[in-house]
Amino acid sequence: MSNNNEMLLIPKIELGIVIDHIPAGQGPKILDIIFQYEEMKDVPVTLGLNYTSKKLGKKDLIKLQMDYLAPEIIQHISIMVPGVTVKAVKDYKVHSKVVVHPPKEIKNLLECKNPNCITNSEAHIGTLFTAIDDSAKQVKCYYCERIFALDELDVVIP
Ligand SMILES: [Zn+2]
Repeated sequence: MSNNNEMLLIPKIELGIVIDHIPAGQGPKILDIIFQYEEMKDVPVTLGLNYTSKKLGKKDLIKLQMDYLAPEIIQHISIMVPGVTVKAVKDYKVHSKVVVHPPKEIKNLLECKNPNCITNSEAHIGTLFTAIDDSAKQVKCYYCERIFALDELDVVIP
C-alpha cells in the first residue's frame, strides 16, 4: 500500500484521540473495553482494521471524537492490550503521544480468581495485583499471593 492510499484510508482528524499500533485483530477487544464505561457510550468512534504497519505488519486503529480519555480507561487498555500508542490530536496535529504499558501495580481493577481469597469475601478490601515480570503478562495477588496470567482475570468496572 502506498502512502497516498494510507492517507485516504486514515483521514486526519481535527480533534480527537487516536489509539494506534493495535496488533491486528485486537481492535474490537479495545472497543469492548471502551464501551464498558458509561461516559463513553455516546462518543463517535471509528475502528480501522488491518492497516499496513511498518512496525507490526498489520495493525488496527481506533479514532475517538473526544478530547480526553480517562486515565482508568487507558490503564484498562494497557492491561488488556499492552504496547498500543495513545495519541491526542489537536488542530490536525499530534499533540501528545504515549505508548501504554501495564502498570507495576494494578489496584481495584481485577477480580481475584481464588475463591478463598479475602478480597472475594470482604468486599471493602480492594484488590491489588503486582506484575511479576517486565512484560506484566503474569500478576500476583497481594492478598493470597496466587499468580495468574493477566488475560485470565476478569475486570471490575467501577
Ligand atoms: Zn487473591
